[in-house]
Amino acid sequence: MADYRIGITGCAGRMGQMLVREVLATPGCKLSAANERGGHEWVGRDAGEMMGLGALGVTVGDDPVTLFAACDAVIDFTTPAVSSINAGFAAQARAVHVVGTTGLSSEQEDELHVAARHTAIVWAPNMSLGVNLLFALTEEVAHALGDEFDIEIVELHHGAKADAPSGTALALGQAAAEGRGVKLERVAVRGRDGLTGARETGAIGFAALRGGDVVGDHTVIFAGAGERLELTHRATSRQIFAKGAVRAALWARGKPPGLYSMRDVLGLRRE
Ligand code: NAD
Repeated sequence: MADYRIGITGCAGRMGQMLVREVLATPGCKLSAANERGGHEWVGRDAGEMMGLGALGVTVGDDPVTLFAACDAVIDFTTPAVSSINAGFAAQARAVHVVGTTGLSSEQEDELHVAARHTAIVWAPNMSLGVNLLFALTEEVAHALGDEFDIEIVELHHGAKADAPSGTALALGQAAAEGRGVKLERVAVRGRDGLTGARETGAIGFAALRGGDVVGDHTVIFAGAGERLELTHRATSRQIFAKGAVRAALWARGKPPGLYSMRDVLGLRRE
């Protein structure tokens, strides 16, 4: 089989550079294109040279239509506005779109759903194996314990992170809500300050901490009377997300149109 042509958009970013390296290191995959935003200093230059890897023969572009036309799959860790628009280009080109971007509004999420009628899109706020196991465990534990245990989700990330709470924290909240059979929007409490009054039974609370170069820590706390269970995941390298994203791109090859998650990719979805 011919090499799988993978393109990276946002290639100069923290994740973009990891993704370029991961594609280059994955047998059967070829870096077929790399994009950045218009006006970025990397545009028109060789992606490998800009990363200190030596020339790769891949010139960084800024046109998404050309990008999607040149690829079987595009991996996209950019911004919510860019990823939601890119989903439309993926649909037109019938290319796989792997979206790692977090912080999408519900309208932007809708754009992914619409595009996924025409192509396979994998969208996951966290592409690591460990966190996706944590989603499954959180759902399981929330189901088993019921709402006499209070659920609080705490996350810590580097200071440059743009959105809060993290997409992963919200997805953990979603998993807990699904385990309990409730709608997260109804029970979520996002940040507390001042005279908040007593905690409501059944609430799922979120707290976001920011600082330093922390890649991403998440803890789900189940606090009951006389005992407490805490499930924690700590990411120490962004490589885990890049590995997961390339794995998702390979998994989606030849899949029917649809919006998939990492739980689908890893076979962790509960029937
Ligand atoms: P970053 O700011 O370092 O990188 C984003 C890159 O996208 C930048 O280089 C920027 O110039 C580029 N970009 C902006 N507009 C563009 C356009 N129109 N076309 C092409 N490129 C464009 O950010 P980051 O830390 O790499 O994170 C990016 C996103 O990925 C964030 O939403 C973050 O939360 C998310 N993230 C997800 C996971 C996961 O596992 N799903 C892991 C880490 C980060």
